[in-house]
Amino acid sequence: MQFKTIQDVDVAEIGLGTYKLYGKECKRAVMNALDIGYRLIDTAQMYKNETEIGDAIRTSHVDREDIFLTTKVWHTNLEHDDLLQTVEDSLEQLKTTYVDLLLIHWPNKQYSLEKTMEAMMVLRDQGKALNIGVSNFPLGMVKKVTEEFRIPIFCNQVEYHPFLAQFDLLDYSYDQDFLVTAYSPLAQGKVFENELLKSIGENHNKTAGQISLRWLIEQENVVAIPKATSETHLQENIDIFDFELSDEEFNSIDELDKTTRLVNPSFAPDWEQ
Ligand code: NAP
Repeated sequence: MQFKTIQDVDVAEIGLGTYKLYGKECKRAVMNALDIGYRLIDTAQMYKNETEIGDAIRTSHVDREDIFLTTKVWHTNLEHDDLLQTVEDSLEQLKTTYVDLLLIHWPNKQYSLEKTMEAMMVLRDQGKALNIGVSNFPLGMVKKVTEEFRIPIFCNQVEYHPFLAQFDLLDYSYDQDFLVTAYSPLAQGKVFENELLKSIGENHNKTAGQISLRWLIEQENVVAIPKATSETHLQENIDIFDFELSDEEFNSIDELDKTTRLVNPSFAPDWEQ
């Protein structure tokens, strides 16, 4: 596994996404992932699998302090005291005293963002969240947190794959030294049908999915969290550290149409703000 260093913290370049992994299948996938070298596990209150993930981490042979565990507070739990209480519940289910990264899953205008961030800072000060950040925050909202409230964030987790651009957010992440975690990095399977990614894959004896992941992690400040269930998929998604994209290959992926947003629920923010 290779790591990115952000704010002096090492974060694995590939983590395991766990949305839609449930029950025994979830526990098995997380244990397999840890066995074969994954060190970053991404969950959320909304995924309803924190208990299984806690079980898998407890049962695995990897020490808790060697695992970077992320969870996210659902967007209806952002009132100050609710947030504090629901994170206690998450920690109990995860069977741990802290998460490495706590994120606000989606912004919600019904709550004061400043008060929500204050609650996040309480948890950081208490050592229950070693790092705090946001997810699905458009650039303007990230700037509000960092510049208006003067609260540095560790991460913004956003949809990012070869078919969606995140250029402005990335530029800002370099200025402010925060992590951009790429979710749906395989475009939920759509990368496997792309002719350009397939043909670059042929040059390296890799799949289109491995090319997508490689393109993401070759970018400064970016790590990716593909979801996978089988051991074959888990292994394939970390088997990307033995080759490099040429400049020409990298740039040709950059030039793909970048307007496909796959995750856009009714409560999503205005992405241009
Ligand atoms: P994804 O990782 O882009 O794609 C997952 C799909 O690709 C699954 O169907 C998986 O199948 C398949 N797959 C994985 N590895 C493969 C391989 N090597 N070969 C062929 N197929 C493969 O999509 P995602 O689940 O939407 O995103 C990943 C993670 O990001 C989520 O699990 C979650 O942790 C996070 N996420 C966060 C947010 C947010 O709002 N913050 C939103 C969406 C996702 P199998 O399961 O059968 O292996």
